[in-house]
Amino acid sequence: MSRKWSAGDGSCRTVIGTDQLGELSEGVAVNPMTWLLKGCRRLKDWWTPVRRVRIAAGDVLPSEMPSKDLVLVRYGGDDWSVGFLCPCGCGESIELALLKEVRPRWDLAIDSSGLPTLSPSVWKKGGCKSHFWLKNGVVCWC
Ligand SMILES: [Zn+2]
Repeated sequence: MSRKWSAGDGSCRTVIGTDQLGELSEGVAVNPMTWLLKGCRRLKDWWTPVRRVRIAAGDVLPSEMPSKDLVLVRYGGDDWSVGFLCPCGCGESIELALLKEVRPRWDLAIDSSGLPTLSPSVWKKGGCKSHFWLKNGVVCWC
């Protein structure tokens, strides 16, 4: 399950859009639909409210995932994994291991207002190939 996802290498660019501007001005073949789609989902994410965390007791994710919120799977007092639907809208659910013995694994920090931050970044190797950070409940695309 979590093998489909790998920890990001930390090379995430925080200035959104710079890479696309560069591609466009150089006239390199850029699929305008891809560019538009990426812009749309960034805009959508900017408008929509932040993600929060729901705690699920048990060792598996619920079959019905919330559309935005993260589900923290807690079993026997340990945080096992965190799951959520891919923020790109492809409909795939993402499950990231939080247990210390598992590789790759992620850290989930929840601030005082309940907003989750995941580290390192999440990078999908197949399918939509999404690469993003979750910082204070907000998805930052790489
Ligand atoms: Zn996706």
